[in-house]
Amino acid sequence: MYKIMTPGPTQVSENVLKARSLPCTNPDLDLSFYDFYKETCELISRLVGTKNETLILGGEGILGLEASCASLTEPGDRVLVLDNGVFGKGFADFVTMYGGEAVYYTTDYKKPLDPEALEAYLKQDHAFKYATLVHCDTPSGMLNPIHKLCPLLKKYGILTVVDSVSAMFGEPVQVDESGIDLLCGGSQKALSAPPGLTFVTVSRQAREAMDRRRTPIASFYASLKAFEGYYEKKWFPYTMPISDIYGLRAALDQVWEDREMISRHERIASACRGALTRAGLRLHTLGGYSNTVTVFDVPEGVTAEAILEGMKAEHNIMLAGSFDVLSGQVIRIGHMGNNANVADMTETMQALEAVLKSLGMELRASLGEVFGESLGEE
Ligand SMILES: *Cc1c(COP(=O)(O)O)cnc(C)c1O
Repeated sequence: MYKIMTPGPTQVSENVLKARSLPCTNPDLDLSFYDFYKETCELISRLVGTKNETLILGGEGILGLEASCASLTEPGDRVLVLDNGVFGKGFADFVTMYGGEAVYYTTDYKKPLDPEALEAYLKQDHAFKYATLVHCDTPSGMLNPIHKLCPLLKKYGILTVVDSVSAMFGEPVQVDESGIDLLCGGSQKALSAPPGLTFVTVSRQAREAMDRRRTPIASFYASLKAFEGYYEKKWFPYTMPISDIYGLRAALDQVWEDREMISRHERIASACRGALTRAGLRLHTLGGYSNTVTVFDVPEGVTAEAILEGMKAEHNIMLAGSFDVLSGQVIRIGHMGNNANVADMTETMQALEAVLKSLGMELRASLGEVFGESLGEE
């Protein structure tokens, strides 16, 4: 078994695994499961600062993104796609698939989206039904300032769909304060449950937009409206993956009790970035560093493959490369959720140091030592 220091899936704790092995009832017919589901949804809402309803869908993070676009998009709708990363751009596929017109707002992939520049753009053109944006664009580790961008979009009457799959619980999210209409999350990132579930918080305005549609939602499985009145009717649109939801609940309870989760992510991420730069490696972006994942450029003379292979073969640790435009160019260390702990990260930094050295790279400082020192200094 590898230690998976990847930006999702992350390491799953024992209590979550145990919860997933509890005996199964029939989730359609056992009325107590409707309460369990609803309470689990309410716990998510509280954790992300909203009174909005949350829905848990049986499917991976991608389903949450698709369901958001499917539920809001009608043929001909103009949708603003904020694009400074692979996931940011990718939203356009879901928009066009459901008949919308995706209008890209593309900016430098190495810098976070700039609210002032966006405002200048919106002054010229704001005839959009909704906008899509990504909180942490995981392939580059880019963190966008959603708490500034969303209120701005709302000011121009634009609904907001935020992919915070790889940020939430490791980075603060305040849905109501920021006016996020649909917030998408996933089980397998900072929450540290196994892959399999996504959840979406749905604002009143988003619900009204779905109610006002002239055309039906062009999907059943990816429809947020399919859950309407599930609790009153005691009727789920499809059988809920009960064991996944038991596991999710255990993971959420753990997050709820962990008052230091956000500050731990900050400390570990900052120590990780500090160690890499002191050692002479280059962080991939020029700012907007997410505290859930650190991404550095593959140094000259070595390949991503050799680093990843060395980490696996010699140290039993799995890091991630990247994909799409970043394929082969960067290495990603996922320090989100359960991965954000000093012991695993120290081991990872020491192993990375050994692998880079064995590949003939000269480091200007010891990754393991600098990482440890900067955590000790506090
Ligand atoms: C992981 C992730 C998703 C979901 O992708 P899956 O392949 O379904 O896990 C969506 N958005 C972002 C930014 C992610 O990091």
